Amino acid sequence: MERGRALDRTALAAFAGGFGGRVVRPDDPDYDQARAVWNAIFDRFPACIAQCGAVEDVVAALRFAREQELTIAVRGGGHSAAGFSTCDGGMVLDLRPMQGVTVDSRRRTVTVGAGAHLSQLDEATQTVGLACPVGVIGHTGVAGLTLGGGMGRLQRRYGLTIDNLLGVELVTADGRLARADESENSQLFWGVRGAGANFGVVTSFRFGLHPVGPVVVQGVVVHPLERAHDLAEQFRQLVADAPDELMMSLEFRVATDQPPYAPGMAGRRVVLIELTYCGPVGGADRYLSPLRAGRPMLDTVQPRSYLAVQTRKEEMLAWGHRFYMKNAFFPAITDEIVDLCASRLCDAPGTCSVGFMAQGGAIARVPEDAMAFTGRGAAFWCGIETVWDEATRDDAHIGWGRATMAALKPFTSRGHYVNDVVEAGEDVVRGIYGDTKYDRLAALKRAWDPDNVFRLNQNVVPGPLD
Ligand SMILES: Cc1cc2nc3c(=O)[nH]c(=O)nc-3n(C[C@H](O)[C@H](O)[C@H](O)COP(=O)(O)OP(=O)(O)OC[C@H]3O[C@@H](n4cnc5c(N)ncnc54)[C@H](O)[C@@H]3O)c2cc1C
Repeated sequence: MERGRALDRTALAAFAGGFGGRVVRPDDPDYDQARAVWNAIFDRFPACIAQCGAVEDVVAALRFAREQELTIAVRGGGHSAAGFSTCDGGMVLDLRPMQGVTVDSRRRTVTVGAGAHLSQLDEATQTVGLACPVGVIGHTGVAGLTLGGGMGRLQRRYGLTIDNLLGVELVTADGRLARADESENSQLFWGVRGAGANFGVVTSFRFGLHPVGPVVVQGVVVHPLERAHDLAEQFRQLVADAPDELMMSLEFRVATDQPPYAPGMAGRRVVLIELTYCGPVGGADRYLSPLRAGRPMLDTVQPRSYLAVQTRKEEMLAWGHRFYMKNAFFPAITDEIVDLCASRLCDAPGTCSVGFMAQGGAIARVPEDAMAFTGRGAAFWCGIETVWDEATRDDAHIGWGRATMAALKPFTSRGHYVNDVVEAGEDVVRGIYGDTKYDRLAALKRAWDPDNVFRLNQNVVPGPLD
C-alpha cells in the first residue's frame, strides 16, 4: 500500500523541529488516526500532517509546503464528501487544534477557530441562550460548512450560516495575514461566502448570534412509501402556510435500525416529514395537528433541547462509512417528482435517501448576487444520499445516486450547493455558480491565489490577467 511520498527527510526534520504545532509522519503510531477523514472512500496517505495550533503554525506549514512543492489539503472538520481535505503524498494542513470558541453575549457575536465543530459552537452559544444557524450534524466542521454556505434547521428564520458571517481572518497563499468583511477586502468577503476554500486558509470566523431555545419542537412523522403522494401534498400545504420559525423537509428513505426509526423498521421504504419549530413551543401545534391526523407509523415530534436536536443524527451519519451524494435546487415538488423518488427508492441498493429541504424565509430575502453562494432563490434544496461499508458495493451505490439525479435533472433549477458536490472539474464548478459568478470568482482567485495553491476544493481556476 502507498505510504506517502518520500519527502526530503532533512528538510522535514528541520521544519518539524522549529514548528509550533506537531508534524505527524507515516512512521508515527497515530498516523492512521491523523490521516482519516469522514468519508471512508478517501483512504489517502499524505507525506505529512501539519497540525496547527496557531496562525503562525499555518504560516510556517504553508511556507514549507510551498518550498517543497507539496500538494496542500486544508482540513477543518474533515467532512468533505468529495475527500478534499486529504491527499496522497502531499501535506494535510490540519486545523483541528484551533478549536477556540469565544462568545460575546452583549454584542451577540462569536469568534470561532477553524478547527471547531458545529457542536462546540452550539454548546458555547447556548450557554447564553444564543445560536448561529449551522448544519444538522454536530461533528461537521464550522470551517468547511461556512465557506460553502451552511444550511440547517434555523435557516428560514435566521438565514444560511454565511448570512450571519461578520468577517474572517485568513492566511493568504503567499503567507500574509488578511481580514475580509464588509469594509475590508469586501470583494474577497463576497467570494469567501460560498467559494471560501479557494482563497486562503481561514483561521477564524466571526458570526452574529440570535436568541434560540433552549427548547425547540423537533422530530419526524413517518409513513409507508405507499402514502408518498398524501404526504407530499401535506408537505406542500405546510410549506405554503409556514412561518419562518418552521423548518421542514420531505424525505424518501430506506429506514435503518438507528433512531429515530423504531426496531423492526430497518429496510422499510418510508416517506417522512421532518420539522423543527424554533418559535415559542405552543406555536408548533397548529402545524402539527394535520400531520398527526394522517396516523403516521412513527411520530417523534416533541419539545427537545436545541442542543439535543443538533446532535440527534450524529450516529446516523457517523464517521468511517462510505458515502456518495448528488444535490440540486428545485422550484417545486410535483407529482411526477414524487413518483420518480418513490420508484428510485424501490431500486435502492441499501441505505439511500432523497430529501427536499424547504428554503424561503430569511434565505430568500438576501439578493442572489450578494455573495458567491448560488441557489438561494429556489423553493427547495434536494440531497440524494447513500451510505455503505464495503468497497465492492461502490458501483451499486454511486450508480444509484447518479441515476437518481439523472432522473430528477429535468425538474431542477440553476446551481448546486458547493459543499455537497462530489464530482470535480471546471465545468462542474461553473455549474455550481453559473458563468457570471464563476468569472467574478476567477478574477478574485487571480488576485488572491494566482498559483492555485488551494486547489483541493471545488476549484476556481485563476482567471486571465487583465
Ligand atoms: C455528515 C454530514 C452532514 C452534513 N450536514 C450539513 C448540513 O446540515 N448543512 C450544510 O450546509 N452542510 C452539511 N454538510 C456538508 C458540509 O458542509 C461540508 O462537507 C463541509 O465542507 C464540511 O466542512 P469540514 O470543515 O468538516 O470539512 P473539511 O473536509 O475539513 O473541508 C471541506 C473543504 O473546505 C476546505 N477548508 C476546510 N477548512 C478550511 C479553512 N479553514 N480555510 C480554507 N479552506 C478550508 C477544505 O480544504 C475542503 O476543500 C454535511 C456533511 C456531512 C459529511
